[in-house]
Amino acid sequence: MKAISRTVTVWVGRFEDLDGVVKEMFYVAREVREKAQAPSSRYLVGVAAQSANTGYVYRGCNVERASWTQTTHAEQNALDSMVAAEGRGVKLARLVLVAGPESIDIVLPPVITKKREIWQVKFSEIPAPCGHCLQCIWENCLEDGSVEMYGLLPTGEVTMVTIDNAFPLKFGPADLGVKY
Ligand SMILES: [Zn+2]
Repeated sequence: MKAISRTVTVWVGRFEDLDGVVKEMFYVAREVREKAQAPSSRYLVGVAAQSANTGYVYRGCNVERASWTQTTHAEQNALDSMVAAEGRGVKLARLVLVAGPESIDIVLPPVITKKREIWQVKFSEIPAPCGHCLQCIWENCLEDGSVEMYGLLPTGEVTMVTIDNAFPLKFGPADLGVKY
C-alpha cells in the first residue's frame, strides 16, 4: 500500500478582526449556551448557524436527557431549527460554536490570556463539532466545502476551519444521488 495525504488548515486570529456578522454570532452562541440542559455532562454548548438563503441566524444548545442516547447536540439543534424555519435543502452559510464546562464563563469580546505566536497553537486545542455533528453540518452545506466554522480557544484567540478541512473524508447526500 502507498499513503496518500492532504493538509488540514485552521485559521487562528483575533476576535476584533472578525467581520461584524460573525462577531454577532459569537454573542448569540454565548447566549444560547447559557440555556443548555446538561445535568449529566455539565458541559454547555452554544451554536449560532447562519442561513445562506436568508442570512438569518439560528441558535441551538445541547439538550441532555436521562435516557442518554436521546441527547440533542447543539449544532444539530441549530441546524434543525434552520430547516424547520426555511425548509428542506436550506444551505448553511457559516457556524459559530462556543463550548466548555458549566463553570466556565465565555467572555466576549475575548481577552487574550496567553501571548503566543499563531504557529504555537496546537491542533488538539482547536474547538470542533463532534463527528456526528460534522455529518449533520455537511448535509446542509450542499456540497460546498468552504462553509466556515468558528470557535474560541480558552486563551482568547478565535479559530476558523472550513467543513472541507474539518471533515475531509465525507459521506453525504450526493453519495446516494439524493438532492433535497
Ligand atoms: Zn455533536
